[in-house]
Amino acid sequence: MPGEPGRRDAGCIFCKIAGGEIPTAPVSRSARVIAIEDFNPQAPTHLLVLPVEHYPTLGDLSDAGDATLLGELFDTATQLGRERGGSGGFRIVINTGTQGGQTVGHLHLHVLTGRPMTWPPG
Ligand code: 5GP
Ligand code: ZN
Repeated sequence: MPGEPGRRDAGCIFCKIAGGEIPTAPVSRSARVIAIEDFNPQAPTHLLVLPVEHYPTLGDLSDAGDATLLGELFDTATQLGRERGGSGGFRIVINTGTQGGQTVGHLHLHVLTGRPMTWPPG
């Protein structure tokens, strides 16, 4: 069913990117995790790291209990943040749900670097 953890949602833009329906040059790709450039970057480097499978939110992946996938998502984001941010560091963001500012309903980690970040976030 669309929207179920671990499945594909035919109407989901990130499923289409991960599945190759929308041609996108990935920054990195493994069997389960893909990283792409955000098309509306909020920093000199703004990447999105997402599972190939459709998990709507971080909570859905947590519920599924796939700590291996969760770990690969964080490892990928961390490696890319290090590569792009160097000694200046980087920020990883996961917006979750409406109040959390999530606008695309397919779990993704933002990796931002290349400028000083402010706190608190808006
Ligand atoms: P959210 O607001 O859900 O945390 O983040 C969604 C992000 O996805 C936004 O930063 C937005 O710019 C990005 N985005 C939305 N649609 C597309 C798309 O089709 N391609 C790419 N590369 N980024 C997208
Ligand atoms: Zn999806």
